Amino acid sequence: MSLRLYNTATREVDTFAPLEPGHVSMYLCGATVQAPPHVGHVRSTLVFDVLTRWLTASGFQVTLIRNVTDIDDKILARGLELNEPWWSVAMRNERAFTLAYDVLGCIPPTYEPRATGHIPEMITLIQRLIDQGHAYVAQGDVYFDVSTFADYGALSGQRGEDTQAGIDVAAAVKSDARDFALWKSAKPGEPAWDTPWGPGRPGWHIECSAMATRYLGPVFDIHGGGMDLLFPHHENELAQSQAAGDAFARWWLHNAWVTTSGEKMSKSLGNSLLVHEVVQRSRPVELRYYLVSAHYRSLLEFSDEALGEAGAAYRRIEGFLARVVDRVGAVSVGEIPAGFAAAMNDDLAVPQALALVHDTVRAGNSDLESGSVEAAMAQAQAVRAMMSILGCDPLEWAVASDTDSGALRTVIDHLVNAAVVERAAARAARDYAAADAIRDRLADSGISLIDTPDGVRWSLAESE
Ligand SMILES: [Zn+2]
Repeated sequence: MSLRLYNTATREVDTFAPLEPGHVSMYLCGATVQAPPHVGHVRSTLVFDVLTRWLTASGFQVTLIRNVTDIDDKILARGLELNEPWWSVAMRNERAFTLAYDVLGCIPPTYEPRATGHIPEMITLIQRLIDQGHAYVAQGDVYFDVSTFADYGALSGQRGEDTQAGIDVAAAVKSDARDFALWKSAKPGEPAWDTPWGPGRPGWHIECSAMATRYLGPVFDIHGGGMDLLFPHHENELAQSQAAGDAFARWWLHNAWVTTSGEKMSKSLGNSLLVHEVVQRSRPVELRYYLVSAHYRSLLEFSDEALGEAGAAYRRIEGFLARVVDRVGAVSVGEIPAGFAAAMNDDLAVPQALALVHDTVRAGNSDLESGSVEAAMAQAQAVRAMMSILGCDPLEWAVASDTDSGALRTVIDHLVNAAVVERAAARAARDYAAADAIRDRLADSGISLIDTPDGVRWSLAESE
């Protein structure tokens, strides 16, 4: 059975086949790094992480390119507001995104290009559009001439007439309200790069077209992103790339956004929904489980209550595996059950796939109760296989957290205790200089010693 996916471009669920047999090329619009990520920002990355895992399990090699938009009006505005260089704002938030992706167990992309590292590719693409009569220079800006591209609006179903020109507004110099900026002329105090039509910086849409084709070629399999990017961003990417002569993406996949109280999540909702805040009150794997559990094309209404329920469901799966490990022994990753594969092949029907996981857990629990340990083991192996496709295999997460903190802490404990014994020996010999030197050396490594009635304890020194 083969994978069927909803293609926004055809508005149909079609059988997926990559251009090159066995190899899938995929571009995903990444973050505009003007602020740290909230849970709405990471849904897209998680959705396409599950797709990547499923494609890989189905025998495809996947090349995933996910960009970082590190030059943008919003980043420049944020820099001015904070009186901080724009590139410092971008770097700090890029690191916050990377950390959030890592904490949530996302497989890193094959490559993660930054827009500022691809200005020459953007200039080349813009020049091609100018040369072919699809773009024009106006007062140092360059605009895409929408009237020259008959298919404009076919992807999103929006043609642009009734929508705001948005952040590209320079209505006076544009030939048509729908035309959008490929290049913005230099403004005082703003970063600028030299081009044949004068200094300036790229518009947002051209960045993705240039980076996608730089790494995946003029035609590639899947272009992904959040539904909120469909218009104008993806419509404009498609128009400028195809007008230039690149066939561009064969499949367009869009995930629905995350809502709170029925509205699209935005930063005006405050800090409580930032990923690094949410993972203080929920285990990261439970947040991941929650965010991937809905169908990717369904809105996900975020609430702490729903997150709590998802966490409880996850712990039922985790508890079953722990009982099997306790009673029967180590559980390997088994084969993926046909029902799970059928659900995933049906446009990534994760809710149906998860229903099968929970059925398997229930069956495995009754096997354990009735003493059918071999049957319980088989169920557990299947559960691991299915959960690993969702990036939520509890035993894999247990190993990861051991490595990250548990095992490492044990090693540090041994090393610090050896130093503590040395220090005690120095003090017993009244060699206080040597004892202090040992304490100072530990302090340099970020470890504080605390003398207590029960002996010496250590802790990591508070970082500022
Ligand atoms: Zn993009």
